[in-house]
Amino acid sequence: MTDDGAAGRAPAHIRDVLFPGRWALWQQRRGLVGYCLLAEAAAVVLTVRAAVTTVPTARDLVVLATLAGMGILQAELGRQVERVRRRVNTTPHINMTSVWTFAGVLLLPAALVAALVAVLYLHLAVRSWYRLRRVPPFRTVFNASLVTLTCHAASAVLVLAGVPAMGAVLDAGWRGVVAVVLAGVVYFAVGALVALPGLTVEKRTVQALFGGWADNALEASTLCLGVLTALALATLPALAVLVVPPLLFLHRGVLVKQLEVAATTDEKTGLFNTAGWHNLATRELARVERTPDACFGVLMIDLDHFKRINDTHGHLAGDAVLKAVATAITDSVRDYDSVGRFGGEEFVVLLPDVTRTDVITVAERVRASIEVLTVATTATVIDDLSASIGVAMYPDAGAAVERLLQAADEALYQAKSLGRNRVVSLT
Ligand code: GH3
Ligand code: MG
Ligand code: MG
Repeated sequence: MTDDGAAGRAPAHIRDVLFPGRWALWQQRRGLVGYCLLAEAAAVVLTVRAAVTTVPTARDLVVLATLAGMGILQAELGRQVERVRRRVNTTPHINMTSVWTFAGVLLLPAALVAALVAVLYLHLAVRSWYRLRRVPPFRTVFNASLVTLTCHAASAVLVLAGVPAMGAVLDAGWRGVVAVVLAGVVYFAVGALVALPGLTVEKRTVQALFGGWADNALEASTLCLGVLTALALATLPALAVLVVPPLLFLHRGVLVKQLEVAATTDEKTGLFNTAGWHNLATRELARVERTPDACFGVLMIDLDHFKRINDTHGHLAGDAVLKAVATAITDSVRDYDSVGRFGGEEFVVLLPDVTRTDVITVAERVRASIEVLTVATTATVIDDLSASIGVAMYPDAGAAVERLLQAADEALYQAKSLGRNRVVSLT
């Protein structure tokens, strides 16, 4: 799970935390403020309700202290990775605390799980305050409340299944196994659902709302390690330490994945960069070489007189146009077509499994979508955009990526000399 900390300003001074009037929370959109307060109130009410019927045993307190200690240890050991990760990715924090909180759900009464969440998130808040100053405190409190609600839901599953703690799970055999899996599923699902209203997303795609495949696999793996931690603590506690190395390694794995994404993504538009697009095109080429009669198309798109936009409206407006054009192109092609930006105002699209007629149709659609684009900047509205597009087809224009790009570029050059705002295909 990742914490969305972007929607807030980090405080500059301890005053901004101590005086409610100065909280960054109040500068958030109305709906978010309401949801934060609601989630926090619900977490407090559920926890107080659970606390009045809880008499913690000495063993509970030892487990609580152990989980909190291991959580803090893991966060500290993972800081080096976090620091590198933040340089390549704007997501403020990869949250792997579910290992400890889910282990807590399996071992402790709900009220003590809430206490564990509070300790772990307090540590996170203090650390980000002193070192990174990125996440505003209200975000940490909000995230802690969401995790607390999630833990209460998962704890309720275990209580309903008649196995409120790991001891009972071990005695219950298969019924215990099913209850633990169910609690994990509920933890996973409730965690994703309660986070929804707090997300600020540009586009309501499944990926934006629920995270990508890798995010979810990470969360699921973290929960699995949580179960193993709880098992160890309930049987041979010293072995629980063995969970820390795989967890740190998992964290490192996330970093590698993100570096890979960063190395193939154009930062300005989120499209593939030259290297990323080349990789894909080369792979596509290898695929079609093995398929008889296969073909694919390449579009090279260059904005017309883009320098004028920069000169007239400034570089920032130019950047806004580039982003809008990137979206227009992506929206005009299919999901499995790959759009890249080759630096400057030049875009490329790879269209697998298409006929020449289809490619020309798509190119026309892209051209038309750029022509009608209006980009509103703070100072002005830019609505006189157009682009020239060169088309190349595999295998007619060539059987190597470089050759295809060259052919598309030649076609593009013709489109420019014929007066711009048009599609040209040479072969
Ligand atoms: P043509 O119709 O012949 O393509 O003319 P043009 O002005 O679009 O072409 P030219 O290649 O002369 O100019 C491209 C301009 O794109 C020049 C450069 O300042 C601008 N540019 C390149 N990269 C960026 C960028 O990342 N952001 C912005 N705002 N401008 C960029
Ligand atoms: Mg241009
Ligand atoms: Mg150019």
